[in-house]
Parts: sequence; structure tokens; C-alpha cells
Amino acid sequence: MTDSTIFGKIIRRELPADIVYEDDELIAFRDIAPQAPVHVLFVPKTPIATLNDLQADQAAIVGKLAHAAAAYAQREGFAQDGYRLVMNCNEHGGQTVFQLHLHLLAGAHLGRFGT
Ligand code: ADP
Repeated sequence: MTDSTIFGKIIRRELPADIVYEDDELIAFRDIAPQAPVHVLFVPKTPIATLNDLQADQAAIVGKLAHAAAAYAQREGFAQDGYRLVMNCNEHGGQTVFQLHLHLLAGAHLGRFGT
């Protein structure tokens, strides 16, 4: 694990985070600047900077991030009300941390998004 991003440091416990789930392949922790009542980030432990860098043999990790997020929603009791999953890529997508991650937003009726 050579990822030097903030999220790499969280994975290695070099930075604190409010971790809500972890397994061999991914970690999930609360966003430090939540954009909804529930805002959790699901991050693969393998260093992958952006979705553009995802190799075909790594593609299953995106399904695992989504599945972990859905399982978290079930456990926390908001799966039926609903939630939003977002993955930002590069400048136009608004990505600021260059380690692949999936945002889970929930806990309110979220507005439409766009430009
Ligand atoms: P954006 O900043 O536009 O949401 P990203 O999709 O790259 O872009 O998301 C990075 C997310 O990481 C942000 O929501 C930000 O609040 C969050 N974040 C940054 N530093 C930390 C940290 N130390 N702990 C938890 N979340 C963090």
C-alpha cells in the first residue's frame, strides 16, 4: 500500500477517521464535511487514483464498494427510504482526493444535482 493520499493515511491509521466498516478490500468512514445527514465514503484499499485508472481486472472492486454501501444502508435502516451513491472523477466531476471512493449520501430527500 503506497497511496500517499489522505485516504491512504486513514487506511494505514496514520490519520484518524470515524470508521463504520472495514474488510480486507475496503474501508468506510464518515465524511469530514458531510453534505447530507448521512455521508459515508467507501474506499478500496488498493491504490487507484481515479475511475479512469481502474483496470479491467480491478473492476469488481466498484461492485464491492456499492454492495458494502447497500449493506450499510440496510444495517442502518435507511435502505427503504433510499440513498444516493456518487463517484466523482477529475476536475469536472469535482474530485479532490485522488484515491477512488464512493460517496453514500442519505438521511434526507436529496435534491436533483447538475451543474
Ligand atoms: P469533493 O471534495 O468535491 O467531494 P471528492 O469526490 O474527491 O471531492 O471527495 C472527497 C471527500 O473527502 C470530500 O467529501 C471531503 O469532505 C472528504 N474528506 C477529505 N478529507 C477527509 C478526512 N480526513 N476524513 C474524512 N473525509 C475527508
